Amino acid sequence: MNIYNAIKEGTKILKKNNIKFSALDCEILLAEVLKKQRKYLILNLDKKLNRVNLEIYKNLIKQRSNGKPVAYLTKKKDFWNSEFIIKEGILIPRPDTEVLIEATLELFKYKDYANILDVGVGSGCIILSILKEKQCFYGTGIDVSSKSISLSKLNAKKFSLENRVKFIKTDVDNFCHGKYDLIISNPPYVNSGKIKYLEKDVRNFEPKLALDGGLDGTFKIFKIIEKASTLLKSNGRLVLEIGYDQKTKIIGLLKKRRFYINNIIKDYAKNDRCIISTKIN
Ligand code: GLN
Repeated sequence: MNIYNAIKEGTKILKKNNIKFSALDCEILLAEVLKKQRKYLILNLDKKLNRVNLEIYKNLIKQRSNGKPVAYLTKKKDFWNSEFIIKEGILIPRPDTEVLIEATLELFKYKDYANILDVGVGSGCIILSILKEKQCFYGTGIDVSSKSISLSKLNAKKFSLENRVKFIKTDVDNFCHGKYDLIISNPPYVNSGKIKYLEKDVRNFEPKLALDGGLDGTFKIFKIIEKASTLLKSNGRLVLEIGYDQKTKIIGLLKKRRFYINNIIKDYAKNDRCIISTKIN
């Protein structure tokens, strides 16, 4: 079978299984099998696949048909301006989270030093993206998942950032080290009862631990705000990713803890996605 037909057949199978971006997913998976870039496929449509590669490709298509996300199949995902190593059991970086990076870089545009803490560090995509852009920033990432800590370390190594970041396996409640200029987090914020309505790929394959924010989705955010009020330096910033319907509730929680609300930023779909606040006193 040649590349053209492999993409065509794969797309047909994915479509039948209601996979949204069926052709794109096939191209990404086939490029991965051939260890080439996608443009190679387009330039070599007539090229025949050998038996081994065809089998590997068919197997990936089968897994994708069942809903397994592409990033878990290719074990990588582009985020901001880097390609992160991804593993099953860890939340896949979302384009919407790039809004937090953009906002933070703007906020710290003229700062050449900052000590930052990423709560629920996952793959490390947030803290490492910031450290890559700001050569004199230092940071700590914490997560309750040991898988997340080892993956974050792996990504830090990939970008040669090991000397400026450390990762610690801990719950935010039990973490009391240091004083920070910035605390940033994409915490689990999905209402427990609504997890079942998430897309099948997310619901069946991504870790509940990274999604489930308790009864109204704000339980983990509440814990982070509480902790941030002691771990932030005076005038330190708190940058939080939030659910599209959580703005009012979170503003209330922040004000109660005497945070000043700087800005609320929308994601690419125009939903409220990020709150920037400042610890004042
Ligand atoms: N926005 C995520 C989703 O796609 C939720 C991530 C989170 O809870 N932090 O489901």
